[in-house]
Amino acid sequence: MALPSLNIRFHNTLTRQLEPFVPEQAPKVLMYNCGPTVYDFAHIGNFRAFVFADTLRRFLELAGYEVDQVMNITDVGHMTDDQAADGGGEDKMQLAARRMKEAKKSGKAEVDNPDDPYQISAYFTKAFLEDAKVLRLKIADEYPQHMPRATQHVSQMQAMIRKLIDAGHAYVASDGAVYYSVESFPEYGKLSGNTLDKIRGGAGGRVLDEHQQVKRHPADFLLWKPDATHIMKWDSPWGAGYPGWHIECSAMATTVLGRDVIDIHTGGEDNIFPHHECEIAQTCGATGHTHFARYWMHTRFLLVEGQKMSKRLGNFFTIRDLLAKGAEPAAIRYELMRSHYRSNMDFTFKGLEDATSAVRRLRQLAVDLEQIAGDAKGKLDAGHPLLMAFGEALADDLNVSGALGALFSWAKEDHKDPAADLAALRQVDHVLAMLDAPKPANDDGLATRCKAIDDARKRKDFAAADQLRKQLIDDGYEVSTNKDGTTARRKLT
Ligand SMILES: [Zn+2]
Repeated sequence: MALPSLNIRFHNTLTRQLEPFVPEQAPKVLMYNCGPTVYDFAHIGNFRAFVFADTLRRFLELAGYEVDQVMNITDVGHMTDDQAADGGGEDKMQLAARRMKEAKKSGKAEVDNPDDPYQISAYFTKAFLEDAKVLRLKIADEYPQHMPRATQHVSQMQAMIRKLIDAGHAYVASDGAVYYSVESFPEYGKLSGNTLDKIRGGAGGRVLDEHQQVKRHPADFLLWKPDATHIMKWDSPWGAGYPGWHIECSAMATTVLGRDVIDIHTGGEDNIFPHHECEIAQTCGATGHTHFARYWMHTRFLLVEGQKMSKRLGNFFTIRDLLAKGAEPAAIRYELMRSHYRSNMDFTFKGLEDATSAVRRLRQLAVDLEQIAGDAKGKLDAGHPLLMAFGEALADDLNVSGALGALFSWAKEDHKDPAADLAALRQVDHVLAMLDAPKPANDDGLATRCKAIDDARKRKDFAAADQLRKQLIDDGYEVSTNKDGTTARRKLT
C-alpha cells in the first residue's frame, strides 16, 4: 500500500536545507546507517539514532519505496580517541578485554576467553540484536546480510586504500602507516564546515596528535596502521595491522549496497566530523564521483532528565536497564522516536510513563475498532484522513511528533467506518510498530531478574531472593516460583 505522491522533504546536512527527496533509482532507496560498536552494550542515546533510521525506513516503505538498508557493526578494535581521526589512545577492544577479565575474576564471566576479541564482539553483537528486536528494528531481522561486520570486509577496505594511493589521495608515511591526504580533496570540510583553512586556523585542535611529524597535514587521517602486536590484525601490503575506523563504512556501504553513490546516509551528530567528513573524502576519492550519499541525515544528542548521559552521573541507561525497571518495549520505542530527530531529545521517566499510556491507548483503540468492525473487511483508501495527516507530517522532514499529534486527535473522533479506520491504523502502525507487543521471550531484563532470584535461592540467600522478588512486585510484576524456577509477568491493569 503506497501513500499517494507525498511531497517528501528531508533536511540534508550537506546543504543545510530542506530538499525534496528524490531517490536516484526509484522505487529503490539505498540507505546506510552507521551502526553499533560491539565492545559494550549500546545505550539509549545510540538507540535513538537506530530507532530514527528504522522509522525513516518504515516511513519510506509506507510511501511506496523499497528500502535497501544497511547498518554496519564495528567489531574491529579502534582507539578510544578515534574522534581525533588518527587513532591515538587505548584500543577499545583491549579496554573491553580488560574489563571482561576483571568481571571473570569476580565470578561474572560474560565470555569464556576475554583475551579473544572475537568472543567479545560476538557477545555484544548478540546483545545488540536482542535489544534491536525488542525495539522492533527491522534491520535486526536482516542480520548478517544487511548488517555487515567490519572484520569480514577488511579486504574491501584494503582494495579501497590501494585505489586511494593510486589516485594520489593517500600516502605511506615514514612511520609505515597509510594516511589520507586531506589536501588532495578540495571538498574536505563541506559536510561539517571544518574546512582546511579553519583547521589551519586552529579550529582543528582536536586533530593534533603524536603523528604530527610524519603527516603532511595535521588533518590527514589514518587508513591503515601496521601494528604486529595489535589485538586484531590482518596481513596487508603495508604490513600486518588494522584499518582506520572511517574506511570501514566507505568500504561496506559501497560493497553491500552495491553502488558508488547511495541515497541516504545517517548517523548521530557526533559522526559528522570527522567520521562522515572522512567517509566522503575516501569514497569520492576512490570512486571519482562528486557524491557519496546524496542526503545526509543526523540525529541530535539525547539527554536524560535534562542532563548529558554519563556513567558517573548514574543516568546512563541501556535498553536492558530499562526493561529491568519494568519498561514496556513499545513505550521505549515511542519515547525514543517521539521528538524531532533534529532537536535534542530529553529522555525522562515521566516521558516513558506517558509513552506507556499512549501505547496502551493505541492498543485499546485497535481492540475497540476490531470489536465494532466484526467481520467487516475494511477497504483501505489512500485518501483516508488518518493516513493523509500522518503521512503528510512525516513527509515534512520526518516530523514524528506532528504525525503522533494527528494520530491522537483522529483517535478521539467518531469512527463511523470502523473497518476502514482499523485498516488505516494498521498502516500507520507499519511505521510505529507499537500495536503488537513483542513476545515475552524478548523480555531479557525480566528473565535476568528471575534468574537472579533463582540463583539467590540456590545459594540459600533467601533474604536476597526476597528482596529481588519484592523489587519485581514493586515494579508491577506478578512473580511466581515453582519447581521449574521463577517467572514473572506484568500485572494487568
Ligand atoms: Zn560509519
